[in-house]
Amino acid sequence: ESFLTMNLSRPIIKALTTLGFHKPTPIQAATIPVALLGKDVVGNAVTGSGKTAAFTIPMIERLLYREKGKRAAATRCLVLVPTRELAAQCFEVGKKLATHTDINFCLIVGGLSLKSQEAALRNRPDVVIATPGRLIDHIHNSPSFNLDALDILVLDEADRMLSDGFADELKEIVKACPKSRQTMLFSATMTDSVDELINKPVRLFVDPKR
Ligand code: AMP
Repeated sequence: ESFLTMNLSRPIIKALTTLGFHKPTPIQAATIPVALLGKDVVGNAVTGSGKTAAFTIPMIERLLYREKGKRAAATRCLVLVPTRELAAQCFEVGKKLATHTDINFCLIVGGLSLKSQEAALRNRPDVVIATPGRLIDHIHNSPSFNLDALDILVLDEADRMLSDGFADELKEIVKACPKSRQTMLFSATMTDSVDELINKPVRLFVDPKR
């Protein structure tokens, strides 16, 4: 198995080479081909499995298909994660994988100034990486920010977001997203409350290794 047989575009292949990622991890091999088709995916995966790149690679690729060099007029992808640390990691991975593209990323987490985040959101970043609590603040209070043009929603460590008390925020955010979108959900455990967050039918797979 190789990234080279996945039909990825040159900017991504170049970034993967720079990162030293030569072979997809099992969760990447399972996720990328399905996600590239625009299908919803549910991944049973933990930290360390390579799941960040598993959703970031098809996310960038699908932005590239549509954009063809044009700047997006609105936020097209939203990645929700349970903690600031995870958000920062996703942000770094995203920027590295998108180095050779003009896709831009915005980090929306607690502990940073609301005003500067509002300014960043006014620039219509292609991808917003956020923790649920702070994103809700912006949905409620930042007049220029909305999720009306969202194409892709990623829920990373969904079980942890639910158990950390973000259930209400998550449900509200999912409701604020267009129905016709792609959803990618990753969770170490699959429960009924995790299931409730996503549209059905979804493509289910279980990562055999981790
Ligand atoms: P994650 O599970 O997304 O936190 O990734 C765990 C670690 O695996 C990170 O340090 C990544 O840089 C690394 N990684 C992800 N995908 C690959 C790959 N295909 N080849 C080598 N390392 C990888």
